[in-house]
Amino acid sequence: MSRRDEMLKEMGLWPVWRLREAQPVGVSREEDTSVAAKPATAARRENATALPAVPQAPDAADRRGRIMRMAWPELKACVAACTACPLHATRTKTVFGVGDENADWLFVGEGPGAEEDAQGEPFVGQAGKLLDNMLSAIGLKRGRNVYIANVVKCRPPGNRNPAPEEALACEPHLQRQIELIRPKLIIALGRVAAVNLLAREASIASLRGRVHDYRGTPLIVTYHPAYLLRNLPDKAKAWADLLFAVDTMKGLQSEAGAST
Ligand code: URA
Repeated sequence: MSRRDEMLKEMGLWPVWRLREAQPVGVSREEDTSVAAKPATAARRENATALPAVPQAPDAADRRGRIMRMAWPELKACVAACTACPLHATRTKTVFGVGDENADWLFVGEGPGAEEDAQGEPFVGQAGKLLDNMLSAIGLKRGRNVYIANVVKCRPPGNRNPAPEEALACEPHLQRQIELIRPKLIIALGRVAAVNLLAREASIASLRGRVHDYRGTPLIVTYHPAYLLRNLPDKAKAWADLLFAVDTMKGLQSEAGAST
């Protein structure tokens, strides 16, 4: 069996003919039941719903301004020393992000889990192994033209979703990372990453299969690997999303080539 077939097997997608059974991109049962339970029209309307306003600390604008001027070393030190939200009190290590700082591909998850908190590196647990296999299935490798980051840099206790005020406090860090990396394409892993990056409420079903915009950078949404570990049949949809991302990247790279 070839390495690629092994990857597809790991993703639950082998033999390859199973791909023909995959639903087209954009047609999905929702992973987030709170949204899935609502009628499709409601979910579609949520597409345009901004996230609720979260009260900001009085010095938030100054802090953001400072972070937006940071280079990599200062930004890393700033995250390592951050106490801007309550997550700092329970973290073991901050999880800044890892990979090629000039990557074309940026993958964004929601926040560190227990193993990431212990090791200080994103996606090193079971979900991380699946993410590595997903990367490998499309010819990518952690650290080689790929950067991996999270919405929040400290572990939410008990692996709960980051609270809106925690995501907001950490948002300048991620924004500055993205400005420094200047990826060609961002892949949001799961609904939490997607809604925080896009700053609007929506179901993952309504977000998949389209190219969104994050401050001028194209963004594609797929399932979170931890969700895929619990919902094996949806790996086929994640595979469709990855193929869509590869096609999109090819288009972006040839556009960039044409304009130089
Ligand atoms: N889940 C995430 O969203 N990020 C990690 O780093 C690990 C698990």
